[in-house]
Amino acid sequence: MELKTAVYPGSFDPVTYGHIDLIERGLEVFDRVVVAVAVNSEKRGLFSINERVALLQEIFASEKRIDVVSFRGLLVDYLKQGGYKTILRGLRAISDFDYEFQIANMNVHLYPEVDTVFLMTSQKYFYISSSVVKEVAQYGGDVSAFVPDNVVVALKNKLEQE
Ligand code: ADP
Repeated sequence: MELKTAVYPGSFDPVTYGHIDLIERGLEVFDRVVVAVAVNSEKRGLFSINERVALLQEIFASEKRIDVVSFRGLLVDYLKQGGYKTILRGLRAISDFDYEFQIANMNVHLYPEVDTVFLMTSQKYFYISSSVVKEVAQYGGDVSAFVPDNVVVALKNKLEQE
């Protein structure tokens, strides 16, 4: 039987329990999830692409059904190269919907075979976003309820460096 793979793209700057929850739930639906960290020249992140990938790899080191990669350029080009046809995305608030709807439609325009599957965020993680985590961490707040330990440590190190 053909393995069903979904590509879960995002910034992951840094990965949060919201992302992790989505990936784990994605594995209930798909055989494999490729977590794809986007190299986006417009958005300068707190963490480098390699740091984001390394944090994700550490978290999913024992999960063989998850691959962590980075990609540059258009997501659809990455999908075409790998022969992937399914994008996984999370939906939090209504405010996510408009943006996601635009992107999903653009991706179909560029690559008609592609489909985007949305999973609703778990209620528990509804309010978690990478940007809020970064902001709280920047002012010394405790973010250990929102991100795993390796990210807590990485945030601390990164912010001390700055
Ligand atoms: P992007 O810059 O592409 O939005 P993010 O890393 O912010 O990248 O998010 C990647 C994906 O993860 C998006 O589909 C987003 O909706 C989803 N996501 C982010 N935070 C959560 C959360 N707390 N619960 C569920 N999904 C989330």
